[in-house]
Amino acid sequence: MAVFVSRAQWGARQPTGRSTQITPERGGVTIHHVGGSRIARASHSDCAAQVRGIQRQHMEGNGWADIAYSHLTCVHGYVFEGRGEGVRTAANGTNTANQNWYAVCGLVGGSSSAYDTVTADLVDAFHLAIARLRSQGGAARAINGHRNQLATECPGNLYRYVQDGSLEPPGGRTHTVREGETLYAIGRRYGVPWQRIAEVNGITSPYTIFAGQVLIIPDS
Ligand SMILES: [Zn+2]
Ligand SMILES: [Zn+2]
Repeated sequence: MAVFVSRAQWGARQPTGRSTQITPERGGVTIHHVGGSRIARASHSDCAAQVRGIQRQHMEGNGWADIAYSHLTCVHGYVFEGRGEGVRTAANGTNTANQNWYAVCGLVGGSSSAYDTVTADLVDAFHLAIARLRSQGGAARAINGHRNQLATECPGNLYRYVQDGSLEPPGGRTHTVREGETLYAIGRRYGVPWQRIAEVNGITSPYTIFAGQVLIIPDS
């Protein structure tokens, strides 16, 4: 039951530079963890602040234009919008990897941490993040780990889930909105509550959708 959190919802700053188009059909999606002492939090109420802190570190500490990741995921099942679909990343360690691979980061700590737990909700959040990148941001078919791009511990415990295929989104239904369609009508068509479609796509009141918009359709 993953939920998408837009940049506006978590209080993202504007990027300081123009974004460059990514070419994910040559690569795919690279999985990261936060690592170090940044452990998964007991309460979701801290997660947005952690994402804002990562953005601050990337912009003020590293001097980058924006948070480096395409999306970030938490153990409570939320996907925080990073640079988003279509945009080159700064997280994968090499120019080629940043140009060809999206970057999705789990808000979990280093592999030695007792708190570094991979929850079912975290796996769900990766499914939603990857389904979004694929449906709205190009043919990013492959999934690998940061350690496949260069020598690093990252993504720690998550690498096992990369290797065994657990992060591959099941189903992956999407719907392209037609002129005049409402969320309510789309929900009825797929037998899914329209409120769930709003949640996984980060759509909030007044629930405006537009023709041509690609929506992720959750299983329930
Ligand atoms: Zn990494
Ligand atoms: Zn959370």
